[in-house]
Amino acid sequence: MSNTPDTDNAVRAFVDDHRAAFLAELSEWLRIPSVSADPARAEDVRRGARWLRDHLAATGFPVAEIWDTPGAPAVFAEWPSGDPDALTVLVYGHHDVQPADRADGWRTDPFEPVIEDGRLYARGAADDKGQVLLHTLGIRAHLAVTGRVAPAVNLKLLIEGEEESGSPHFPELVRAHADRLACDTVIVSDTGMWSEDTPTVCTGMRGLVDCQIDLRGPGQDIHSGSFGGAVPNPATEAARLAAALHDADRKVAIPGFYDGVVELTDRERELFAELPFDEAGWLRTAHSRATLGEAGYSTLERIWARPTAEVNGIGGGYQGPGGKTIVPSAAQLKLSFRLVAGQDVEKVQSAVRDWVAALLPAGIRHEITYWGATRPCLTPLDHPALQSVVRAMERAFGQKIRFTREGGSGPAADLQDALGAPVLFLGISVPSDGWHAPNEKVELGLLMKGAETAAHLWADLAENGRE
Ligand SMILES: [Zn+2]
Repeated sequence: MSNTPDTDNAVRAFVDDHRAAFLAELSEWLRIPSVSADPARAEDVRRGARWLRDHLAATGFPVAEIWDTPGAPAVFAEWPSGDPDALTVLVYGHHDVQPADRADGWRTDPFEPVIEDGRLYARGAADDKGQVLLHTLGIRAHLAVTGRVAPAVNLKLLIEGEEESGSPHFPELVRAHADRLACDTVIVSDTGMWSEDTPTVCTGMRGLVDCQIDLRGPGQDIHSGSFGGAVPNPATEAARLAAALHDADRKVAIPGFYDGVVELTDRERELFAELPFDEAGWLRTAHSRATLGEAGYSTLERIWARPTAEVNGIGGGYQGPGGKTIVPSAAQLKLSFRLVAGQDVEKVQSAVRDWVAALLPAGIRHEITYWGATRPCLTPLDHPALQSVVRAMERAFGQKIRFTREGGSGPAADLQDALGAPVLFLGISVPSDGWHAPNEKVELGLLMKGAETAAHLWADLAENGRE
């Protein structure tokens, strides 16, 4: 019995039968305020990690451990399939949550879960505790329905504790434990779908490079009448750099920036265009009056599949009331770049360095400070493991599954890089879930379909997931 309506019904029945107990367990975990950004909550974050470890052990994982980092701990669990040739899959998620306070606009206590109209409200309900826990219900359904004593794949879970604080120790953690994390495929469960009515699977995330450029001209602010127009002005040069960032078609004008960019295929463009995208509604969420971006691409293509450059901040010189006729001594520019598959973080950083050096005149000293960098990741539509995710979702949702990408950036690419495995996304959250916002919730119907998807996925991957 595998890919049949009987199996689908049996999985659904198992998930339904265990729904109440599952929600009680999830609620218990949600009551732990594991806010990684708040030092006063450090013990709660550790408590949340211990809760998860114990829950995974109780689910049947023979290995369930806390992995310490210099910051918050991660949780690792492993359940070998028993078949030496089985595919190995690593599930990624996080057990920490964003800060939340009644005063931010919560209608109920963010750490006292409330179920109302088919939704569960609590900080972390969708991001990410609900989406982590759906896997334990899923795996129990997988075992119950197939009669197996161990999953069809070698299953590993890595649930980190610092995602909401920028995952500062995650790359190092993954490198240090690369042998135990070794896998054929990574499943990230920390993303969402298009909407309640349009289930989708995400196929990639953009990367990120961001930096600050400090410009210095005269050793101090000087008189603009005595010296202005005859010496370089760092504020003018900051503005010239910002203005030179894009050409007339709004393409990024930094030489070499687009080197290696994986272009959208016609098929991907068609699939994006089929999504029920309401541009006016999207503009409202953007609090903007018009769209603007690289010529020749739709809005979805611009935010999902094209690299971009953004001025995040620009400043320098006199900012006080009235006028002050000076040539300022310093100015500053903050830039960020979203990268797509094929772009290399180091190459982009060095292209920016060369571009800045080439544009600045003599007499302006500059310093570029790069903040963190995140690599892009992308799984091709025809990848067999991606097809397994799509089939598993189709069986759970009873609907055609469409494809999206994620314009933002996340630690998924660290796993892709360190483990050399493709990254797939299994997320059931929807935009209305209110990630990082007051009254975060998860749709219980979607959460249960997520558990069904997870239940179908392991057998399908075991059979079809190898490249
Ligand atoms: Zn998250």
